[in-house]
Order: sequence, then structure tokens, then C-alpha cells
Amino acid sequence: MPGPIFLAASASYQRYLQDGVTGNLVLSVYEQTPDGDIIVGPGEVFCRLPGCANVQVPLSETRNLHSHLRGHGVLVAWTLSARISQRTKDAIVALYESLFAGL
Ligand SMILES: [Zn+2]
Repeated sequence: MPGPIFLAASASYQRYLQDGVTGNLVLSVYEQTPDGDIIVGPGEVFCRLPGCANVQVPLSETRNLHSHLRGHGVLVAWTLSARISQRTKDAIVALYESLFAGL
């Protein structure tokens, strides 16, 4: 389980992990902060930069994705710590669900 514990029960997150490996996952480009730092969501393990081998090969954990991206020379915004509210957790689960909305 590469992502936070609360995502373990999310079918959409499991599908994100599976479809990422098979190449069936379509991810949008990174959103950026006003400072230009890219935003990585909790549980993300695939690199979204075009042409990167890790587009389909997951990093073992989200924090490894952070260091991987710094290796690309991009700045990664600070993201949520482990202590997040249930409301935020629900919002993150909803983000993964939205990847597969209408499919
Ligand atoms: Zn990469």
C-alpha cells in the first residue's frame, strides 16, 4: 500500500494503482501553486511528466515521488501531513473517484 492508510478502502485508488501500471490511466498535467511549484496529491505514485519511465512504473511511496520529481529539476509544493481531517480525506478520495467518473 503505497498511499496513506485512509486510501486503502478506496476502490478508485486501487484502480489508479492498477491502471497506472497498465497505461490505462489518463492523468492531467500538474497543477501549480502561484509560485510555480507543482502540486502532488496524497497517494500519488506515478510521475506525470511526459516521457518519464515512471509514468507507468510507480514509485514505492508518494514521498519517493517527491524526490523523483526534484530529480527532474522541478519544485514540489509542500503537501498535506499525516494529520489531516476526515473532510480532507473525503475530498482526496473524491479526487481519485473523479478520475474514473463516467467510465
Ligand atoms: Zn519522472
